[in-house]
Amino acid sequence: MENIGRFRTFVRSFTSLIEQARDDEERVLAEGKKLLSELVGHDDWLPDEFAQPSPERYRQYLLYCDPMERFSVVSFVWGPGQTTPIHDHTVWGMVGVMRGVEQCEEFRLEPATGRLRAAGTHRLARGGIDLVSPRIGDIHRVSNALADSPSISIHVYGANIGSVTRSTYEPGTGHRKSFVSGYSSAVAPDPWDRLVKDCEVRASSLPRGSGAA
Ligand code: FE
Repeated sequence: MENIGRFRTFVRSFTSLIEQARDDEERVLAEGKKLLSELVGHDDWLPDEFAQPSPERYRQYLLYCDPMERFSVVSFVWGPGQTTPIHDHTVWGMVGVMRGVEQCEEFRLEPATGRLRAAGTHRLARGGIDLVSPRIGDIHRVSNALADSPSISIHVYGANIGSVTRSTYEPGTGHRKSFVSGYSSAVAPDPWDRLVKDCEVRASSLPRGSGAA
């Protein structure tokens, strides 16, 4: 069953965290990691339409954006063999794997030469969380580590990430190119309809939208 209430609880908790922690990135990442871990530890809430891979390239579906654009939540869906370019974020970010396995390669820019240096590769299994930010390391490439099925991770960023101007990097030279990612869908899930999604008895006895206005 689709338990969208779990996502609503996450959004509410993350909003409280941002209101309390404000610009304290260390606190946002430490406490936000626990919230994201709880969310991706239960694969029962993400509506199917935001979990669909595309044969062409990985998908990034906006799940929620804070009205003040202090944070956004995105589902990333990789088909077999798909990968991101090497890219940065310019704001803090968290990656939590919910389905499958992902490969994360980290890079550092050499200040003297402007070239990229590989700084380690690791696999992130279900429930694993990765953190990025300009403070702790912001350049990486993420791939689906599975050759035969999709992988899905839930990402949280310290901005409306689809509208942020960021950079991709060429592997050898470190050559930078600006990009704005946007999102793969013009719609986001509705976590607020308690009548239909939280109360099965009432939902099944009433056609959707039949209540009084
Ligand atoms: Fe990233």
